[in-house]
Amino acid sequence: IVVKKAEYTASAVKYEQYPTDGLPEIAMAGRSNVGKSSLINSFLGRRNLARTGNTPGKTQTLNFYRVNDAWFLVDLPGYGYAKVAKTVNAQWGPMMENYLKKREQLRAVIQIVDIRHAPSVEDREMHEWLRVKQVPTMVVATKADKIARGQWLKHLKVIAKDLEIPDVSLILPFSSQSGVGKKELNEAIEEILGI
Ligand code: GDP
Repeated sequence: IVVKKAEYTASAVKYEQYPTDGLPEIAMAGRSNVGKSSLINSFLGRRNLARTGNTPGKTQTLNFYRVNDAWFLVDLPGYGYAKVAKTVNAQWGPMMENYLKKREQLRAVIQIVDIRHAPSVEDREMHEWLRVKQVPTMVVATKADKIARGQWLKHLKVIAKDLEIPDVSLILPFSSQSGVGKKELNEAIEEILGI
């Protein structure tokens, strides 16, 4: 995909606020501060379309970005930030569940984890939930620039084991900083969209 056009179109909490264009969607999920906004900006080739470095957990809406007028990249709210008020957390679950369960045009979820760390409880719960709901899911391990390339496999193996992913090669090492994995992510998205 060559991203020629990328525009923020909507923030939504309720189903009625989702775009009605009917275009296919790919959603991005990950815990707060994992590097999701950076990945989105890097993928879209825009410096600050998705806001980075926000107070983690603050963006409690689904954000829709229309790409090339052909599909939507959906930024799901970051999960698992302890300082988020309980009421916000209580809203978060149903909001995510509503979207992930009901959205017919959802083609896949890209779940972003930190290559340096073993998946959190929330990472594992999210992954398991997506599996149970049979939502096609791809795991991207970001911040790969933060560890030596020779260490990647060791870290990817931990992630694969904890998320019960059968083959380590299904996890894509990525870095918004160095651009590693960007081409592969682009190709994976092309495949998901069938373009
Ligand atoms: P989000 O909360 O998941 O959207 O995370 P952000 O994209 O805002 O990133 C959180 C922090 O991690 C910021 O300080 C980013 O600069 C940093 N960060 C994100 N991606 C990378 C990466 O690939 N490499 C490095 N070194 N830092 C990153």
